[in-house]
Amino acid sequence: MVVRSSWRVGQIAGIEIAIHPSWLLIFALFSYAAMTAAQMLANQMGVALSTRSSIVLGVLAALLLFACVVAHELSHALVARRLGIPIGNITLFLFGGVASILREPGTPADEIKMAAAGPLASLALAALFGGVAYLARGAPWILTLSLILASSNFVLALFNLLPAFPSDGGRILRAIIWSFVKSQARATAAASTVSAVIAALLVVAGVTMALNRMYNGIWLVFIALFLLQAAIASGRQARVSLALERMRVGDCMARTLIPVSEDSPLTAFVSTVQDTKTTAYPVVENGAFVGLVSPRDTGAVPPMLWAQTPVRAIMTPASRLPSLTVETPASDALAALAKSGVKSLPVFDNGELAGVVSEETIFSKLREQGAAA
Ligand SMILES: [Zn+2]
Repeated sequence: MVVRSSWRVGQIAGIEIAIHPSWLLIFALFSYAAMTAAQMLANQMGVALSTRSSIVLGVLAALLLFACVVAHELSHALVARRLGIPIGNITLFLFGGVASILREPGTPADEIKMAAAGPLASLALAALFGGVAYLARGAPWILTLSLILASSNFVLALFNLLPAFPSDGGRILRAIIWSFVKSQARATAAASTVSAVIAALLVVAGVTMALNRMYNGIWLVFIALFLLQAAIASGRQARVSLALERMRVGDCMARTLIPVSEDSPLTAFVSTVQDTKTTAYPVVENGAFVGLVSPRDTGAVPPMLWAQTPVRAIMTPASRLPSLTVETPASDALAALAKSGVKSLPVFDNGELAGVVSEETIFSKLREQGAAA
């Protein structure tokens, strides 16, 4: 998820902690809820609690919960780091926290370790505050505070364990499916469908609660809608990855090839481009493929020198282009394009040049398939 324009508040174990403005709203709401809970608990214990004390308790509880959410996200990040997965920062926003993990885990086992770390940290904190509450029976302030934090951390763990991808529970669910189907993209698609159903059920539950004067239901509706949108987005992304894994380069390349001789001057090449308007041209010498040239490559030479510069001077030589075959999966072709930093790659069929593939040819085929489906 994209969390922009956040304030940096500090750094723990080399990981930057930031706060998104929307977090202030949840901080205020939680302070208020904790204040109300503190007054209720004080009443039950028969202790007098002034308004000012309850405000202090509420804000203190919200600040400690903020630390607990950071601990939850930090657990994800530290496990990821131990597994060799690069991590970005931790951002707190309206619906809690998010640790940006810069790469998907490579195996289901890694994903389970990473996803489970956060809820386990929250459960451990719930147990810790529960223990403090037990020991602090004689001290109403500490008792109240630790009871609020024990229950908040417990709810936090349970909510994150909901099987709604990309939540922690959803990630665990995806990893389990992944270990059976052996394809991360297929597992993501399946987990996203389950998640969308669960999120939709939560919306219904929240609306029902709100209609029955349980106004916490409104909050549940917001969270569920957020989960629903995330599930739909990751499902869509997974279907694209899946289509790319299944599609072969032979089905998404440009087959119309207009060969250019490596000795022909750029003036001749430019007039060929004006007549044909293709993005990449195979360069040939004695009928053999020696490189690729694209119209944008001419930009490296001033037009006054075009007449005396051969195509050879601006082409990308075949030796610098990874070789793809018509059987290469489109997903591998995209990776090869990104890695080599060129716009187009040649595609071979039994050693013969059969076509040229680029991001445009792959995505236009994908759109065509999407329109057909
Ligand atoms: Zn988490």
